[in-house]
Amino acid sequence: MIGQRLGTGIVIVGALALACGAFGTTAVTAQGQQTAAQGRAGAPAGAPTAPAAPQFPAAIRADVLRGEYGRYRANNDLLSYHLDVRVDPEKKTLGGKNTITFKMLADDTRIQLDLYASLAVDKIVLGSTPLVYYRQANTVFVDFPESLKAGRTYAIDFYYSGMPTTIGRFGGFTFAKDPAGRPWIFTACEGEGAAIWWPNKDQWRDEVESMEISVAIPNDLVDVSNGKFQKKTDVGDGYTRWDWLVQYPINNYSVSLNIGKYEHWSDQLGDLAMDFYALPEDVEKAKPQFAQAKDMLKAYEHFFGEYPFKKDGYKLVQVPYTGMEHQSAVTCGNGFKNGYGGRDWTGVGISPKFDFIVVHESAHEYFGNAVSAADVSDMWIHEGWGTYLECLYVEYMWGKDDGLKYTNGYKTKVQNRTPIITPHGIHREPPQDMYFKGALFINTLRSIVNDDTKWFKLIHDMFQKFKYQNIMTEDMVAFFNAGTGRNLTPVFDQYLRHTALPVLELKFDEAAGSVSYRWKVDEAGFTMPVRVGSKDAWQIITPTTDWKTMKTPIGTDKFEVATDLYFITVAKS
Ligand SMILES: [Zn+2]
Repeated sequence: MIGQRLGTGIVIVGALALACGAFGTTAVTAQGQQTAAQGRAGAPAGAPTAPAAPQFPAAIRADVLRGEYGRYRANNDLLSYHLDVRVDPEKKTLGGKNTITFKMLADDTRIQLDLYASLAVDKIVLGSTPLVYYRQANTVFVDFPESLKAGRTYAIDFYYSGMPTTIGRFGGFTFAKDPAGRPWIFTACEGEGAAIWWPNKDQWRDEVESMEISVAIPNDLVDVSNGKFQKKTDVGDGYTRWDWLVQYPINNYSVSLNIGKYEHWSDQLGDLAMDFYALPEDVEKAKPQFAQAKDMLKAYEHFFGEYPFKKDGYKLVQVPYTGMEHQSAVTCGNGFKNGYGGRDWTGVGISPKFDFIVVHESAHEYFGNAVSAADVSDMWIHEGWGTYLECLYVEYMWGKDDGLKYTNGYKTKVQNRTPIITPHGIHREPPQDMYFKGALFINTLRSIVNDDTKWFKLIHDMFQKFKYQNIMTEDMVAFFNAGTGRNLTPVFDQYLRHTALPVLELKFDEAAGSVSYRWKVDEAGFTMPVRVGSKDAWQIITPTTDWKTMKTPIGTDKFEVATDLYFITVAKS
């Protein structure tokens, strides 16, 4: 989807694909996360050859300020935000305040917040006391006249205003027009950060427990934000304020405005409220398309349990960009077509059965929004699992064979150029392999477990354990190690922290009727079972990094490996 117009005059730029994050060769090249030495040295013989990995560029100060969980972030714990803004479509400005409530975890006189340098800080106050602040790149350090005390709760009001920046593949903050020429204003800022349009503690580790969002807009427009709609109030000067309440932890980039001439309709899934928003001219197309969300939520609830933001409800909102997983207000701009904008996304004839954007972005309600990564380095927790949930949705709707076919359709998109997990503490998006290789890795884990009943219980329990938390890969590895009774750490590390796939080396001695086998990998201690021999009667072997030999009546050419169940490279000799 390169430069595709979605009927609004807004050009969607990017490279090969654009769902909620980081697809795109351009972005990957520009943001390569690994040195060439780390990336390819030691790549096993027989591994697919890949172009030289891009150099990991020196972290710039702004990326460290944004990505690092330093002293002035770690000294406090966010409790709530009340973002109260006014948006002027004519002047293309916004302004207002965010009331930030936090508990101090250590005595200190300074905290770190973030607001893009392009926006003005009007004042920051603690009660009636104006606070001194310092700006560096997009960071705002706020100083207090006296030390704040550990264990106590404080609230500051951060007033700001200006013209927010429209950048990035999804817009950041965009003042656009709909095809009928009416204002259409939206946010999508996962990469750029929420500080592109409102002041907050813009990092991934700490989330508020709840949030109020108040948005004043001209009377004839509708604002759809996150959480449960509370009320709208005519403020008397041609503007109406829309109040929304988020009753769960929420990551900053999920906080959103969608302002337009929306029409609204509702549905129910049991006692879950489902609300839909589309432009008046598109409602007839949107109604049947968005109705897919019902079976999708049933599928996700089947595998992982109740929709995690039930009190806030589920909303699906039409936008002019591809889509984004804004918590409880998922956005979709897929042209009311199945597949990805009408295309067969994984190329195996299954994507055209459903709206890829609705299914992918809503998957993030489970992984991304409910279970969140604590550092952007581990974003595969959002995108690998989000992509795997697509595969589970296909399995739920059309059966296990189609699920597996859909999963393997992703193989052609895998690059194996840099590791999926990137350096911590630097705000750079990981490579697109976090999506497709991530999902294929999770499918490989399922094959290692080799017991669907056990697998589905494991992933259900994993979600339940980590929902509403911000975790790192290590937390997930510990869960799977305990749950399976295996040491899967080298397997996770090989797939996520190295570039190359595991290579199953097979050496045949047909005269002796035997085959020798081993894994060629970067991780010491790597071992993984794999099905080999013949499709009709698989034999499970458990190679290690040392050669083993077994008898086989099957010759070199006919000896098969279940590469649809395990994402590996096979090297026969
Ligand atoms: Zn995604």
